[in-house]
Amino acid sequence: KKYFAEENRYEKMQYRRCGKSGINLPLLSLGLWHNFGNNDDFKNAAQILRSAFDHGITHFDLANNYGPPYGSAEKNFGKIFKRDFKSYRDELIISTKAGWDMWPGPYGNFGSRKYLISSLDQSLKRMKLNYVDIFYHHRPDPDTPLEETMGALDQIVRSGKALYVGISQYNAADTKKAAAILKAQGTPFLIHQPRYNMLDRWVEDKLLDTLDQVGIGSIVFSPLEQGILTSRYLDGIPKDSRAATEGSYLKADRITPELIAKIGALNAIAEKRGQSLAQMAIAWLLKDQRVTSVLIGVSKVSQLKDNIEALDNLKFTAKELKEIETIVAD
Ligand code: NDP
Repeated sequence: KKYFAEENRYEKMQYRRCGKSGINLPLLSLGLWHNFGNNDDFKNAAQILRSAFDHGITHFDLANNYGPPYGSAEKNFGKIFKRDFKSYRDELIISTKAGWDMWPGPYGNFGSRKYLISSLDQSLKRMKLNYVDIFYHHRPDPDTPLEETMGALDQIVRSGKALYVGISQYNAADTKKAAAILKAQGTPFLIHQPRYNMLDRWVEDKLLDTLDQVGIGSIVFSPLEQGILTSRYLDGIPKDSRAATEGSYLKADRITPELIAKIGALNAIAEKRGQSLAQMAIAWLLKDQRVTSVLIGVSKVSQLKDNIEALDNLKFTAKELKEIETIVAD
């Protein structure tokens, strides 16, 4: 059936300014790392994208190697885009990345100009797009001069293949260096994509302050710690969960009784707030204005809807925050 987006989609979402840029991002964005590959259900994938846009989620995040197999998330997204979203292109922020292993040999990985430019050309073909809104260097490369990588990002923007650039997983010091190079080149540096959630706090040390100083936004990945910060594993490991999926980065042995005790205690706080744990984990990230958007993954439309309802209660009392700190600290 032909897809028409919900008329009232922009009433349901809130948007936040991305650093000192012209772009507002939805408080929740959707990532296609999992659930959009060739092993996944294509219909379900399309329903997730439709439902996200219907709720005002205007940002979809991809990478060259999302799948499996590598490239298949972009391909499947391209099929769905062509069928459902073509007429909405100007309402969408679509991102992709290069930086991890993508094709064999010395030119399909890390941060060379050779790799970044050819990888984006491949991504655009797979997604059937003329340009992406954001192109990221996916992770720092210790062996390639930062000038070369940032120069490639600049060339990509000037050739019209991306509107803005971003970096992911760079530490605070390298982010500062990258920002200085990009500024000197006049490259539109929009955003940093770090990992951040209640259980992984490295960005609080220096990165968020650095981003604030430089004037760029952040979109934080694995906000639910891949599903751990939800009710998913409270009663064991469900068969259809990421921890039960072979080859995923979430291993079943992560789900220890000690961890589940902590998650249970967090869940009790969420219940008192009238929220699911997933909702509380998302709200907890958004309390910091330096977090522009929370980048979730979902395997089902029901999870997406659950997560969007986080926006109904984004406030925390000092007591709640303290209780959360005590639980995650020990
Ligand atoms: P999350 O931490 O949001 O984990 C997503 C998983 O959590 C889902 O697949 C689902 O697991 C479970 N889940 C989600 N919502 C609920 C809910 N309401 N109730 C119960 N369980 C729920 O994020 P991801 O780790 O998937 O990362 C999100 C995105 O971030 C990626 O798609 C990608 O775009 C980006 N990313 C970027 C990286 C980078 O290096 N820049 C690295 C990793 C991710 P289940 O499948 O078990 O149902």
